[in-house]
Parts: sequence; structure tokens; C-alpha cells
Amino acid sequence: MSSSSEKINLLGMPLSKLEAFFESIGEKKFRAVQVLKWIHQGGAESFDEMTNISKALRVKLDEIAEIRTPEVVFQSESSDGTRKWVIRVGGNNSVEMVLIPEGERKTLCVSSQVGCSLNCSFCSTGKQGFNRNLTAAEIIGQVRIAIKSYGPIELNSKQRRVTNVVLMGMGEPLMNFEPVVDAMTLMMEDNAYGLSKRRVTLSTAGLVPAIDELGERTDVSLALSLHAPNDSLRDELVPLNKRYPIQEVIGAAKRYLARCNDKRVATIEYTLIDGVNDQPEHARELVRVLRDLPCKLNLIPFNPFPNSGYRRSKRAAIDRFKEITTHGGLITTVRSTRGDDIDAACGQLVGQVDDRTRRSQKYIPVNQGASSS
Ligand code: SAH
Repeated sequence: MSSSSEKINLLGMPLSKLEAFFESIGEKKFRAVQVLKWIHQGGAESFDEMTNISKALRVKLDEIAEIRTPEVVFQSESSDGTRKWVIRVGGNNSVEMVLIPEGERKTLCVSSQVGCSLNCSFCSTGKQGFNRNLTAAEIIGQVRIAIKSYGPIELNSKQRRVTNVVLMGMGEPLMNFEPVVDAMTLMMEDNAYGLSKRRVTLSTAGLVPAIDELGERTDVSLALSLHAPNDSLRDELVPLNKRYPIQEVIGAAKRYLARCNDKRVATIEYTLIDGVNDQPEHARELVRVLRDLPCKLNLIPFNPFPNSGYRRSKRAAIDRFKEITTHGGLITTVRSTRGDDIDAACGQLVGQVDDRTRRSQKYIPVNQGASSS
């Protein structure tokens, strides 16, 4: 690699880390706010653009530091306006991210890991195995790429090109704790992207100790991938359940919400799979399980991928499930399938993973699967 990779990348540093960086090089702390604004609000790619900073400091910064955004290798736009990017993150690895416009709202779904180690049975990312965690720069870099794709940005512009961020792309965010917290801190930082804590959502398969730790560090919105109303079925779909069963996960979510202290509710994600978890008795059981948790329910019709062995629930089953849970007192929505013509829907984000586990060997890759059928 070029010598630039030895420089310190400032892109992923939240304010506190950037202040520590400036102090460590004998500069005043307030420089951090100036540089943070230039990087995230001004979209600066180099220190040379930072006109309110002395030439001498700009030269010094350029010698030791850089602002490095991951490289976009592919971008596509769906017929419904959904945009998808493939981003190279070294070697043969790439991750994907998706921007979903819905009226005023523009939700960016970002990845936190190259692949995923959890191996949920219905998720194509899991089938690819795992390579590594993304850095904070690679996570916040996704927000930067999406914003910049609409043209240059200006310092002090109030325009919001991304209004919401969800950590629902590739990976389990809580298995990459520090970089994810740093990136979310930047998303909410006034001198960076200034999103409110209600507009940044972390989705987890239920890593109980990390949910508790998260509550000590931040108060972003929480989404839980439940997908089953009882442990025997959830053990099958989300293997992590064997370590942290449903009641423990729900307990952690309650503690998290209680800390937020502001009438917040969790989002429960429930992927509906034909004949597996979509029967009326599952819906009734789910209502009972969620009785004491302040939450809303988001049903996600399963998005198929080659050789998954699962099918999407029938429309009638989805409607019936919604009816039963709504009747049971849950605010239930059905997530519309967006961007599926460009493989940008939930569970279809695959990128490319140079697998370090042996899991992907048991799985026929997407393109091979498609050509053999
Ligand atoms: N690891 C995190 C975030 C990534 S997945 C988590 O488990 O929450 C984001 C959501 O998409 C999760 O709820 C996940 O279970 C769901 N999902 C994964 N594969 C899917 C598929 N094929 N169809 C529909 N939803 C899927």
C-alpha cells in the first residue's frame, strides 16, 4: 500500500478522540471542532481546504494525518429510488449499503462488519461467513458517501440528504462495539451530522451484555431481531439464542429503554417465513411474550436468496399475523420491500467476504446458484 495508509485517518474520530489527537500533537483542543466541521459538514477531502486553519498547521496535519473514505466500486439505483453502493474495504472484501427515500425521510442502512459471525439461518450475509470488523472510518464513511453522492456539500448548509441511519446492513453491530459507538456518536454530533438519537437505530440479534454496555454509552434507538416467539424456534433461526434466550434479551431491552428515560420503545423485527414462524399461534404467542416490553412490531416479509431453503410468507398469512398482533395491542407495521430489483432488500446485502470461517464452503455462492438453475 502507499505511504498514506500509515497516516492517521481522522474520518472515524468522534470529537473526544479528535481533541485528544490535537492535544497529543501539541495543538489546542478547539481545533478539533473546526476540523470535525470541515470533514463532516464541509465534506473536505484534504486539510488544504480548511481555510480557517493556519497554513503551518495544515502542512503539519498533512504529514501525519489523512481523511480517507472507503472506495465505491459500484452504485445502482432501483426503480423505486432506492440506491445501493458496494464499497471496497481492502483485499477481496466489500460491503454494501442502501439509501431508501420515503417522502421527506431518507434512511441509510449501513454495514458494520465484513460478513457476520452469527449465522442466522435465513440471512444471506450470514451464509458468507465473516472476515473482519469495519473501522469507525469505514462505517461513518458510508454516511459520507451517501451524502456526497448528491453533489458537493457546503459548510453550514442545513440541508439533510440523509435523515435517518439504521445499522441494519451486513454484520452484527454489537460484535463491533467501539467502532460502532464512535460512528454513531459522529452521526449524532452537532458539529458532524447532527441526527437526533431517535433517528439513529442499532439493530441487534440480542447480545445481552453488549446491550447493557450500550446503555451506558449512548441512547440511540434500539431494534431487536426476534423472529420467533419461543426459544426452540428461535434457537433454529438465530443460533445466538442458545446463549441469550428470549427472556434475557427482552430483559436487556427493558433495562436499555428504562435508562433512556424518555418513553422510548424498542422496534421488534420479525421476518415472516412461509410455514416456519408465520402461523396464527406464533402471532398469539408473540403478543404474550412482548406483553411487558414497550415496543412496536415490524414484520419483514422474508426476502429470498438462492438456496436459502425458505420462502416468503403468503400475503394472507402476513395480513393475518398483523391482524392478530394488532388486536393483541401491538403497534404493527409491515416493512415494504424496497429495492429488491437491485438486491438491496433486507438480508440481500452480501458484498464480498473473504471468509475466515469455513462456513461459506457449505453454501453455494449467489452467482453460481443463479447460473445452475
Ligand atoms: N445483525 C443485526 C443487523 C443486521 S440484519 C440484527 O440481527 O439485527 C437487519 C435485519 O434484517 C434483521 O432483523 C435481520 O434478521 C433481517 N433479515 C436478514 N435476512 C433477511 C431476509 N432474507 N429477509 C428479510 N429480513 C432479513
